[in-house]
Amino acid sequence: MTPPFPPIQLLDLAAEHTALQPALNAAMQQVLDTAAFIQGPDVQLFADELGQYLGGTHVVPCANGTDALSLALMSLDLPAGTEVIVPAFTYIATLEAAALLGLRPVLADVLPGTFNLDPAAVAAALTSRTGAVVAVHLFGQCADLEELSRLCARANVALIEDNAQALGAVFTFADGRTAYAGAVGDVGTTSFFPSKNLGCLGDGGALLCADPARAALLRQLANHGQSRKYHHQRIGLNSRLDTLQAALLRVKLPHLPVKTAARQAVAARYDAALAAVPGLATPARDPRSTHVFHQYTLTLSDFARRDALQAHLRQHGIPTMIYYPLPVHKQPAYAYLGYRAGDFPVAERLCAAVLSLPMHPLLTADQVDFVGEVARQWMEKNS
Ligand SMILES: *Cc1c(COP(=O)(O)O)cnc(C)c1O
Repeated sequence: MTPPFPPIQLLDLAAEHTALQPALNAAMQQVLDTAAFIQGPDVQLFADELGQYLGGTHVVPCANGTDALSLALMSLDLPAGTEVIVPAFTYIATLEAAALLGLRPVLADVLPGTFNLDPAAVAAALTSRTGAVVAVHLFGQCADLEELSRLCARANVALIEDNAQALGAVFTFADGRTAYAGAVGDVGTTSFFPSKNLGCLGDGGALLCADPARAALLRQLANHGQSRKYHHQRIGLNSRLDTLQAALLRVKLPHLPVKTAARQAVAARYDAALAAVPGLATPARDPRSTHVFHQYTLTLSDFARRDALQAHLRQHGIPTMIYYPLPVHKQPAYAYLGYRAGDFPVAERLCAAVLSLPMHPLLTADQVDFVGEVARQWMEKNS
């Protein structure tokens, strides 16, 4: 069966950039002309524009989302060996930063429906040695910011939000207050890696924070710890967002809401096709959070069939990915933490059971229906 539409892509950056090409070219040319490649005016302009979009938070650009996590932790001045609670099911950067800084990652399991940190597991992992909790808003939906904020405040530990996947998601608190993902904790981090919802054409990242004093510290840390040129108050990083990337991001940022809405429409169409299919669960929604669908991730109830479904979809020209195939505690680099198989059963189960479908703003209704139909038919035949 060959469908009457172009090949389905997991994501389609080239096509997404086509419509913006004149503006992207103009932005590149302007940076070339002015030659202010480092800390040119576009960097601060982009930071201001993103801060405005995120409800008025301070934005400190940096070189990538992993550096943003390092800088966030550096700004807390935690003594070596301090424990940092992180989810057992996440991209490795979330804890790599802590480990490199001599802090001790402590894993907490996630919730099977939302894939995000289980507040009860965080509560159980908190000790007198805990200095921070890093909440990841995985796949585009906020972690339980209400409960995690409360736990962190009560324990007097910092809350860092790894918001690499949920830029633009909004969380509503019990008192009716709303906030953008990344702008709730002491520091938020994000990434402009090309495949993220707001991606540049290379590496890029940023820190978000409400406190102007902490924003100033983060800005200093990201630029060799200097207060002014050649005067270094802190041991910092060389972690700056290139002017070129900032200029490109200024072109792309105004389109983020429309692209987010397009992702949400794709997700709603997948939901309609797959909600009643036996043997798989569509992504659970936390009613307190909007979902910006960095990924649309299914959970198979029978692990044995996950890889078979993936192979079947591939045969029909449908690419899929497994985010993530191995939980943190089974990664060789983190064996020193001393965890064992079985310590984080939900994370382990998810690694065996999840499958992310093609997700990008340019997927057509026909393409989405085709993916849904191929998956549904196979699941019904094989259940
Ligand atoms: C992409 C990502 C990062 C790292 O961002 P980079 O810009 O690639 O360094 C960190 N955490 C999560 C959850 C991510 O998805």
